[in-house]
Amino acid sequence: MSDVPAVQVENLHKQFGGVEVLKGVSLAARPGDVVAIIGGSGSGKSTLLRCINLLERPSAGRISIRGEAYNLRRGRDGDLEAADRRQVQRIRAHLGMVFQSFNLWPHRTVLGNVMEAPVHVLGVPRAEAEARAREVLIRVGLGAKLDAWPSQLSGGQQQRAAIARVLAVDPAAMLFDEPTSALDPELVGEVLAVIRELAREKRTMILVTHEMKFARDVASHVIFLRQGRIEEEGPPERVFGDPKSVHLQQFIRAVG
Ligand code: ADP
Ligand code: MG
Repeated sequence: MSDVPAVQVENLHKQFGGVEVLKGVSLAARPGDVVAIIGGSGSGKSTLLRCINLLERPSAGRISIRGEAYNLRRGRDGDLEAADRRQVQRIRAHLGMVFQSFNLWPHRTVLGNVMEAPVHVLGVPRAEAEARAREVLIRVGLGAKLDAWPSQLSGGQQQRAAIARVLAVDPAAMLFDEPTSALDPELVGEVLAVIRELAREKRTMILVTHEMKFARDVASHVIFLRQGRIEEEGPPERVFGDPKSVHLQQFIRAVG
């Protein structure tokens, strides 16, 4: 496998209204890595993920996807902005994001949701996109729901459809922002099972999660974010088994 990181973040800063919420974060996800990001509410986890696909504009730093850095320039408000929007579209097409709140198109069937980006963003011919969409939907256990509307699905099924939608573009990296935290407890397991399977297939993932046991099982690297900084990081056995930071110790006790 290539040694070029699928995602590389270097010295990322982000401020909102003068308040710095990311204070120089660096990380790399190499192909096949599963990077778990843990940390308390407000520590900057979502902002970090959103900066990776430029849903949020960084204040400073550098972000590269498969070795290609976003071409950024200083905007009028002081934050960085895309200097080349077509580059951003092209790079973003190879990043999949799964949100807490599913974000499926309500007026498209499950199959239609999964075909959307391949057809309209990547220009894949419809027949080919449909075949691929069926395949990924079967893989996440939704082979019987191709023609259902999102509103007819349980939360767990909707989230699995959202994962299929990302898989359909064969992304360089998948970004998950607390993918199970909006689910009823009995539906969490089916979504974690799908993500676990993707980890086994060596999909590159950056995963924000409060499921500590899951992070320990599937992650290749764990990052503990606190107040916009990486306070501790390492292999899961080390981070969970022998945490150095007092705050991490407290966090694991509180959440784990
Ligand atoms: P986490 O995902 O770890 O809970 P976030 O990245 O959502 O944390 O937020 C980090 C900090 O940035 C919080 O203090 C939050 O209130 C602030 N923040 C996030 N988004 C915005 C925004 N759009 N405008 C102003 N402040 C924001
Ligand atoms: Mg968040």
